[in-house]
Amino acid sequence: MISFVGAGPGDVELITLKGRRLLEEADIVIYAGSLVSKEHLDFCKEDVEGYNSAGMTLEEVIEVMEEGYAQDKKIVRLHTGDPTIYGAIREQMDILEEKEIDFEVVPGVSSFTAAGAAIKREFTLPDVTQTIILTRIKGRTPVPEKENLVKLAKHKASMAIFLSVQDIDTVVEELIEGYGSEDTPVAVVYKASWEDEKIIIGTLKDIAERVKSEGINKTAQILVGNFIQGAYERSKLYDPTFTHEYRDGIK
Ligand code: SAH
Repeated sequence: MISFVGAGPGDVELITLKGRRLLEEADIVIYAGSLVSKEHLDFCKEDVEGYNSAGMTLEEVIEVMEEGYAQDKKIVRLHTGDPTIYGAIREQMDILEEKEIDFEVVPGVSSFTAAGAAIKREFTLPDVTQTIILTRIKGRTPVPEKENLVKLAKHKASMAIFLSVQDIDTVVEELIEGYGSEDTPVAVVYKASWEDEKIIIGTLKDIAERVKSEGINKTAQILVGNFIQGAYERSKLYDPTFTHEYRDGIK
């Protein structure tokens, strides 16, 4: 069996119990070494075979999986955060399916929720926004034109922007055009949940300069929206006068 496992954002305690158990039992671990904490390997068996996929091609990863599978070994493919977001797992799963190799996917704590936790905010507030947009700007990987940042920002929803901090000037420019205000709150969270985590909270007006002066050019979430700063209505769910399935409201 091959298990695609979400390692979480960094802190090794932010993996699921299932993910940890699979690591403990694994004969082979192929980990995305650029972002997954090596500390996860400390929980593996002493004779575990570890492969850092950072220097491998898709074909090489599949070869390791195929050989291990043929020998009935337990294989963990460890991806950063949650594997279903920018994990490049689809191409691996499609090949495994073709080869009739069994696999499962175990979710993880994504870096966008870890970043939300780091700044102690909630992405969804009743009268502010009920929507979170997860996106990135184009790099060497293209982004469909219908999803350009200006268009997405026009919704004024909460946004978590992955893989983009190296191009903070473009991000800010497009967000100002979309949100229509330089005063829109922004938080940049570098290495959420790691020991060297950094948090910068500001507005679209000052964030680019501050990010650059901190030397942040990778491994950061750019969170945007009025959920970060500003007024909001309290929830109906915990309002004393509101009746719902589990509680009678005060008349
Ligand atoms: N599957 C991952 C995302 C992989 S793409 C997830 O669910 O989080 C890699 C991008 O994720 C990075 O460029 C960065 O934007 C973000 N990222 C990953 N780990 C991070 C962390 N600990 N703190 C902030 N951003 C992180």
